[in-house]
Amino acid sequence: MRKKIVAGNWKMNLNLNEGVELAKELKNILDADKPNCDVVICTPFIHLASITPLVGDLIGVGAENCADKESGAYTGEVSAAMVASTGAKYVILGHSERRAYYHETSEILKDKVELALANKLTPIFCIGEVLEEREANKQNEVVKKQITDALFNLSAEDFSKIVLAYEPVWAIGTGKTASPEQAQEIHAYIRSVVAEKYGKEVADNTSILYGGSCNPSNAKELFANPDVDGGLIGGASLKAENFKGVIDGFK
Ligand code: PEP
Repeated sequence: MRKKIVAGNWKMNLNLNEGVELAKELKNILDADKPNCDVVICTPFIHLASITPLVGDLIGVGAENCADKESGAYTGEVSAAMVASTGAKYVILGHSERRAYYHETSEILKDKVELALANKLTPIFCIGEVLEEREANKQNEVVKKQITDALFNLSAEDFSKIVLAYEPVWAIGTGKTASPEQAQEIHAYIRSVVAEKYGKEVADNTSILYGGSCNPSNAKELFANPDVDGGLIGGASLKAENFKGVIDGFK
């Protein structure tokens, strides 16, 4: 069956020392009280090599992005192979901040996903509508197009390696969370879109995380939904105690 996962997204926060300290603190807390789900932290590139040896098997480590090119003259870019060489196992792709501020299109994301998979990284692939789209009741259409355009070129075998994260853009960093009913409704729809393309077994095995102002007080209610398989957590992943509170949404 599909995995339950709580993944942190540190975004552009915490210098190297602060990041290392947070990872150590989180490891100690989870060593003392084992989680009932997989736990992942996605960090800025510069933290990866320092953090992967510290957290062992207890916490998966991921990047927040990778390049859409394999290697070469792309100043400032970091390739999927470089991310994998740090011991990281995951990479967030298609986050709404990358789509909005860095103009990442489905064409670009398609290449990133392929390179991530070729380097044995698990993409945590983000999809989600903006407020105007939700208000126009276009959320299903939007997420279907995002998945179709960037992922449906994959074989069923490769698609099975993807984790999806539904993140309504209006809920990211805003303190406004999708209600458990809204989350369940669209997660079930996303699973049906996957089933239509790859069949029920692949769809049933796909982890679909919810992201958008998820915190210790709303995590349990969100994670209780049958199609919500965990969370992608921004703000609440920056303090060990808060992140643990979200992870405990599965207890
Ligand atoms: C995110 O950026 O993936 C996210 C969900 O952020 P926040 O939890 O802060 O809304």
